[in-house]
Amino acid sequence: MTLDEYLKKRDFKVTSEPRGEVEKKVRHTDTFVVQRHDASHLHYDLRLSIGGVLKSWAVPKTPPVKKGEKRLAIGTEDHPIDYADFEGDIPEGEYGAGSVEIWDRGTYDMEERKDTKMVFTLKGKKLDGKYVLLKFPKAGEDAWLFMRV
Ligand code: MN
Repeated sequence: MTLDEYLKKRDFKVTSEPRGEVEKKVRHTDTFVVQRHDASHLHYDLRLSIGGVLKSWAVPKTPPVKKGEKRLAIGTEDHPIDYADFEGDIPEGEYGAGSVEIWDRGTYDMEERKDTKMVFTLKGKKLDGKYVLLKFPKAGEDAWLFMRV
């Protein structure tokens, strides 16, 4: 686990996003967050705490809330755990410039985790139920399908 890509993309003298580091201590609760990110294109960033970082996907449309709904999700760089609390404006000229607000958050239980498939239950206010992330190479190298099942 590394935050090299996250750190490289940002100038922490300019942005108020957390610098953060890979967390070593084991957390007993796995957290998830979805941040509504009004950047050059409005999208929703899904983040799951895994191994001391937030594994992250950008979802170009509102995340699926009803059974059977699916969305494209593009894998993005790991973020620090502290990012789950971040809301605010990323200044013009910075990576991801625009506003970030927490759209939903809660805990999750991982049921199955492979390189190409994850099955988990989200316990949030908006996202509540069983979800699958499935690699979808047809749509690109880091493309996944994010499905409410
Ligand atoms: Mn984003």
